[in-house]
Amino acid sequence: MSDPATLFRAIFLATLGCSVALQLWLAWRHMQHVRAHRAVVPAHFAARISTEAHRKAADYTVARTQLSVADTLLDAGVLLALTLGGGVALFASRISTLPLAPLWQDVVLVIAVAVLSGLIALPLSWYRTFVIEQRFGFNRMTFGLWVIDLAKGVLIGALLGIPLLTLVLWLMARAGPLWWLYAWLAWVAFQVLVLALYPTLIAPLFNKFEPLADGGVRERVERLLVRCGFAAKGLFVMDGSKRSSHGNAYFTGFGAARRIVFFDTLLSRLQAEEVEAVLAHELGHFKLRHVLKRTAWFAAGSLALLALLGWLVGEPWFYAGLGVPGPAPRYGVALVLFMLALPVFTFLAAPLASLYSRKHEFEADAYAARNASAPALIAALVKLYEDNANTLTPDPLHSAFYDSHPPAAARIARLEAAS
Ligand SMILES: [Zn+2]
Repeated sequence: MSDPATLFRAIFLATLGCSVALQLWLAWRHMQHVRAHRAVVPAHFAARISTEAHRKAADYTVARTQLSVADTLLDAGVLLALTLGGGVALFASRISTLPLAPLWQDVVLVIAVAVLSGLIALPLSWYRTFVIEQRFGFNRMTFGLWVIDLAKGVLIGALLGIPLLTLVLWLMARAGPLWWLYAWLAWVAFQVLVLALYPTLIAPLFNKFEPLADGGVRERVERLLVRCGFAAKGLFVMDGSKRSSHGNAYFTGFGAARRIVFFDTLLSRLQAEEVEAVLAHELGHFKLRHVLKRTAWFAAGSLALLALLGWLVGEPWFYAGLGVPGPAPRYGVALVLFMLALPVFTFLAAPLASLYSRKHEFEADAYAARNASAPALIAALVKLYEDNANTLTPDPLHSAFYDSHPPAAARIARLEAAS
């Protein structure tokens, strides 16, 4: 353990080992717990959810958790092959022989590793949609649509991502010791740009949006918006049923251009009063500044991570520890290794992010109870849990670690206390 590269490699491997072991253990606990509670609907839901629906939710949860285990193992294998297995080193040495300026060699390296990782992830993505979602009756996609979606996604990712990537690599090489600060500003500007383009340019490439028709739902929603003092540019219905029968509602855009989007699958299942309660919950996230707080955390986190990368770029042990020995700094290699290794370390912070998110969910539920109706939100949640086959009996530790939303029983208990 004398040299820093060996020490760093040992820390990286130990953290990866812990993280994989933890993920597998949590998945195993979750499946055990769900299976053990499969036979009987929890007493609290017995009147509202059938045994058949409860068993379907258990089987769906187990199937998805099994897939997440495959995902964990595949990710770890690919990560090791690319780093210590010499994958990135091989790419970098091959690309360095191309007749390109160093900046473009770096761009090609990052794209090559991204494309390879994407290709390796494809079979599991296909399996998720066409085997698991299909088996449980959620999938509405054809293989053709899946391929078209993929092609559009890659094209948009390339159109938006390659200019940003080129700018960041250029800043790393040319902008001096504070390059990471400028890169952060570019990253924030990029996020704002995507947010601005998303509702009117990107989302319509994938779905049709129609104004919400006049009638009971629209009247209720408009009254709710006035009551909560919320300005939106429009209320839209999206043809979510084109891909999946899972339902949802969301906000998109920002400032005066904000839109509210309902999935057609949500409107077809919920009563007007229930749609109003679901929207009130979403409004709560805005009014209680959850969206602002998350954005601030995200921006601060990005700044800290870019500053970290700013330091690592000049440290030879960072490259050597992750399987790419040689003289530093090499910007494309640094960026690729950083993006590959980062999730291993940030994974351990997942429970904190989940806890923070669940706190916000409880607050948004309370907001909905004050501004709409707690019983209507409960009714909507029960329907959504049933329709989406979300388990009512997650393993408590698995839920505490991963879940952005509190377990159904906890949410409903608090709503009942509020009504
Ligand atoms: Zn929420």
